[in-house]
Amino acid sequence: MDLMEYQAKELFARHGVPVTLGTVVTDAAEASAAARAHGDRVVVKAQVKTGGRGKAGGVKLATDPDDAVDKASEILGMNIKGHIVHRVLVAPAAEIAEEYYVSFLVDRANRNYLCIASVEGGVEIEVTAKENPDAVAKVSIDPLVGLDEAKVEEIVTATGFAPEIADQAKDVVRQLWRVFVAEDATLVEVNPLVRLSDGTLEALDGKASVDESAGFRHPDHSGFEVVENEDLLELAAREKGLNYVKLDGSVGIIGNGAGLVMSTLDVVAYAGRRHGDVTPANFLDIGGGASAEVMANGLQIVLGDEQVKSVFVNVFGGITACDAVANGIVGALDALGEQANKPLVVRLDGNNVSEGRRILTERNHPLVTLVDTMDGAADRAAELAHNQSVA
Ligand code: GDP
Ligand code: MN
Repeated sequence: MDLMEYQAKELFARHGVPVTLGTVVTDAAEASAAARAHGDRVVVKAQVKTGGRGKAGGVKLATDPDDAVDKASEILGMNIKGHIVHRVLVAPAAEIAEEYYVSFLVDRANRNYLCIASVEGGVEIEVTAKENPDAVAKVSIDPLVGLDEAKVEEIVTATGFAPEIADQAKDVVRQLWRVFVAEDATLVEVNPLVRLSDGTLEALDGKASVDESAGFRHPDHSGFEVVENEDLLELAAREKGLNYVKLDGSVGIIGNGAGLVMSTLDVVAYAGRRHGDVTPANFLDIGGGASAEVMANGLQIVLGDEQVKSVFVNVFGGITACDAVANGIVGALDALGEQANKPLVVRLDGNNVSEGRRILTERNHPLVTLVDTMDGAADRAAELAHNQSVA
């Protein structure tokens, strides 16, 4: 489960990480009192489970309580990468001297934990990591040893923290590790960790993901589930009993079977590199019984995502054969009528594939392109999404 910034900061505070908690408000008018409580000059920050809020205009400084109300009303309701802002954090504005980056995460490929840290933190960290990788330290942590003092030293030295803040940086590294282990997190990230004008360090932003499989050890974590703030599409999908996860890209994905859908995401992301770096817009597994009704529900959800520019329907016929799936797609398009307004690339394979393809070919729907291979279909869907977005 991914946490929002204010929740991550609550976890951080439990383990001694220097943070200022601030006040969360859902209504712009409440920002006035919150600003007064935090010394008038505040920062108003969108609380959504996605990064890049600053660049999207979701982090704004306010000079006084009235200004805080204005900034809050600008930010509330904003759509940041498909996440609607339902709450903002009002916190004292910090005087920043420098911005650093520190994170701990599970490094699955190396069966290790990894600390990533840099003294060039801030909103451009991704660019720094790409263009100047030497400015970003990566230190592996053996799970059987954990973070001993030698490792703390290694991290702080490799990152290149200035001598006058090295001791504070060591404290923060130890505290974040404590959060990571004690809360069964799979990620803790602070960007920026700032040096304030008075020389002290503070985690100005916080990101954390806690392992739901360890939820039984943390009954309090269920309190972090924020239902009213969940993505509206995910909520609608859940009501229809669909296994849907919203992502940031523009190629809608519908498939049957979690494994097939996962690999569909991979091939689309890969094909997207040839077409303006488009990426998948969602995960949607319509399961084994890909009936017309389920297909219509799925299409409706995927097309309801404003970011979707094309849809890739990737079905491997099994118990529900390809002809039934093809009829499902045709039936769904008929049922949706004008709501179906984005190009669909369909790849069918498996049980009764020739009959399935025949049905779609015969129907010859203007929005539907039939492609025989998964890679070919992914390429076409990515190309269509790219063309639509530059059109
Ligand atoms: P993100 O863009 O979603 O990562 O949001 P952050 O919380 O990291 O904020 C983005 C940027 O806004 C930070 O890197 C800071 O430069 C700036 N910022 C955030 N809070 C403050 C603050 O209290 N004072 C000042 N001066 N800048 C801030
Ligand atoms: Mn940040």
